[in-house]
This record gives sequence, structure tokens and C-alpha cells, in this order.
Amino acid sequence: MNVYADEQHASTSSALPRPHRRPRRVAMLSVHTSPLHQPGTGDAGGMNVYILELAQRLAAIGIEVEIFTRATTAALPPTVELVPGVLVRHIDAGPYEGLAKEDLPTQLCAFTHGVMRTWAGHRPGHYDLVHSHYWLSGHVGRLTARRWGVPLVHTMHTMAKVKNANLAEGDTPEPAARVVGESRIVAAADRLIANTRKEAGELVRHYDADSGRVGVVHPGVDLERFRPDPSGVEAGRPAARARLGLPQDALIPLFVGRIQPLKAPDVLLFAVARLLEERPWLRERITVPVVGGPSGSGLAKPDGLQKLAAQLGIGDVVRFRPPVGHAQLADWYRAASVLVMPSHSESFGLVAVEAQACGTPVIAAEVGGLPVAVRDGTSGLLVPGHDPVDYARALGAFADDPALSVRMGEAAARHARTFGWDTAAAATADVYAEAMRERRTPSS
Ligand code: UDP
Repeated sequence: MNVYADEQHASTSSALPRPHRRPRRVAMLSVHTSPLHQPGTGDAGGMNVYILELAQRLAAIGIEVEIFTRATTAALPPTVELVPGVLVRHIDAGPYEGLAKEDLPTQLCAFTHGVMRTWAGHRPGHYDLVHSHYWLSGHVGRLTARRWGVPLVHTMHTMAKVKNANLAEGDTPEPAARVVGESRIVAAADRLIANTRKEAGELVRHYDADSGRVGVVHPGVDLERFRPDPSGVEAGRPAARARLGLPQDALIPLFVGRIQPLKAPDVLLFAVARLLEERPWLRERITVPVVGGPSGSGLAKPDGLQKLAAQLGIGDVVRFRPPVGHAQLADWYRAASVLVMPSHSESFGLVAVEAQACGTPVIAAEVGGLPVAVRDGTSGLLVPGHDPVDYARALGAFADDPALSVRMGEAAARHARTFGWDTAAAATADVYAEAMRERRTPSS
């Protein structure tokens, strides 16, 4: 396992021997979701942000990126230049609308054909590396990298075996076909990129990955966009609350993300109900914003979570808001007393780092990458398990000591500054260079 941005800090990469040749142009595959989509609803989330940020930072260090994604509207042209050096290519594969993610495997042939056609229109050697994201793209990556005779780098983002081991009650398990598909991709990839050492270990343990071919690169955060108000964490909060129409003198536990069982927004609602049972005086002084849209089934049914809030008798304190762009999201983070992320599984949890970068502490489940994203007891509180009682206790600490939010928020902003996309891109470029040096993919 090669650690490029380890749990201590990204700068460890400088201690490693510098791999040599970097690719000039990368074909980046994101079949099921486009970096142009608004994250926070449906299939668009952290992976979209990851690809968008990474591609732009790679371009800035001289690696051109072409992102291939499935066309889901006729309104966009076949290619869109995001910034110089980053092109989004829309590939026709299946109907624009009404195709569920579960049905996408049926369109992978068409997608691969579209990518191949694009490649055939260029001079040989146009792409010197393929970087696929998520297992659906990994399948396309295996075929294209082999055909082009270039290395394949793959990032899982989530793994079926890990997800299935951490399902929320009533959630649908990932199908066996995905597990088989992921195993094949792991076997074929020249390099795998994991978000954390833990994820690297899971790749080795569950998918038999060769640890020498797994690089650990922490995702980043846009530190220009997500930062505390220039007047400071404490002084900036009233202005952010005023801009969003939120009460000044209230405990504001915030949820941001896709409304799906895996993210466990229901655990937050149960915890808030419990908190109010224990501290009835808080009812007039608490607002719980839930920012994000439905994704998948169950809780995601348009009114699933609203119904639960009403049943718990907290309908009056919970405010549901549709997904917003990053500029406004930064204000939601700055306005909150604490971000709550009770997820059942989380490969990293970008939202946790974004909130901290804005000077907001995080209460997070001790799962996946969250113990890396959050420094327990310093920048937030990690909670083992998903018992609402434990989350209510953590929320109680913020309710009883309003200064805790500012104290931890300041530490959180410092902690978040160790996660930058520039560092992530440089580390990714090092993984690319290694893959090029030790390419396993035979050309055909
Ligand atoms: N997000 C957003 N607007 C919203 C809600 C979420 O832009 O209203 C973004 C958020 O900023 C983050 C991403 O969606 O970058 C979610 O990433 P995370 O890793 O937290 O979760 P994932 O969606 O990958 O499960």
C-alpha cells in the first residue's frame, strides 16, 4: 500500500521516491453521473465533486482531462469545456431520462462503443491513461485501457461488500453482479486509489487487491469556497444566519446530503426528539435544517422524512431545503452550531470536511473515512454505532455549552486546512506516474 496523503498528513508523499513520467492526457470515466449535475440529490454526490475538483487541479499541473459521462439531456452539447484542459464528453447510451442506476449495466456496451468512437477520431496515443470511477465505469475502463494499451487507474468510491455489511434497516443490498464486477476491476487495474488506509485495507481484505498497487489519497476540500467568515467563526455566524433567515439564538444541528437510508438522517431526527424530551426548554431554541434531495428509495420518498418528523412531534423544528450550490452551502455550514452525519457507511464524507473548513464542528458516526475527516474530541465528536440516544447525548453537549461550537469550530477549520484538492491532485498524479511505469495492462 502506498500512502500519498496519509492519516497524519499529505506531505508524507515528499518522503517517497518520485515516480517519473506523468500522463499528458487522461480519459476519466464517470458513466452514471456527470460532474455538471448538482450534487446532493439522486445519484449526484461526493463523486461528482471529487471528479470536478480533481480534474481541474490536474489540468492546473499540466495533465489534461477528458471526462466521459452518459448523456442525460439533449440540452447539453456533446462536449463542454469546463476550464482549459478539462472537457466533459457526453456519450449517448440509453434514454436520456427514466433509466435507473440499477439498469445502467445494460447500457455499458453502448457507452464503451461511444468512448471507443471518440478515441478512434484522434491520433494514436491521444489518451495515455484511463481513470475510472465507481464500478460501472470500471467495466468500461477495463475494456478501453486494454484496447488502447494504456494503464488503468480505478477509484471505487463505494464497495458493494462494505456497503452490504453496513446496511440501514430495510435498505436493499447491492447485487451479486456488482461484487463480481468489482472483483474483476480490482484484478485488472494497474493501480487502485483508496480514500483512506482503512479503505485500502478493505480492498485487500474483501477484494484480494495487491496491497502494492493500492495508493491512498485523501480527497480534498475547496478551501477558497469553504472557509470561515473573514470576521471569524463566532463573529461570522450571525451574518450567515441572517442571510438564511435562521434564528440567531438557537442551537442549529445541520444535516447536508442525499436523503437516503445510508446517510441515516432519521437517526438525527430520533436524536432531536430525544434531546427535546430531556430538555423541553430547548424547543423554542432549536432549528434543524435538512439540506439535500431524495436519492434511492425508502426515506427518499419525497415526504418520507417529513412524515417521520411529524410522527416524532418535531415537525415544527425541522426545515427541509432542496440541494444548493457550494456558494450557498458554505453559508449553511457557517450558520450551523454543528453538522450531524450519522451515516451507516461513508467512504470519506466530503460534507464533514466542508463544514469544518467553514469553522463548524461535526458529530459523525465512527464509520468509513469519517474518523479521518473528523478529529474526535477536537474538531467534533465521533459516535460509535447508530443509537439515537448517543447522538442526543452528543447534541446535548452543544446545547449545554454554546461556546463548545466555537471552540471546536476553530479547531475544525484548522484541521480542514490539511485537506486540499491541490495536494490530492499531486498525489493522484504520482499514482498515475507509477501506473505508467509499471503498466500491467497488455495492449491488444
Ligand atoms: N452537496 C451540495 N449541495 C447540497 C448537498 C450536498 O453541493 O445541497 C455536495 C456536498 O457539498 C458534497 C457532496 O454533495 O461535496 C456530498 O459528498 P459526500 O462525500 O458527503 O457524500 P456522498 O454524496 O458522496 O455520499
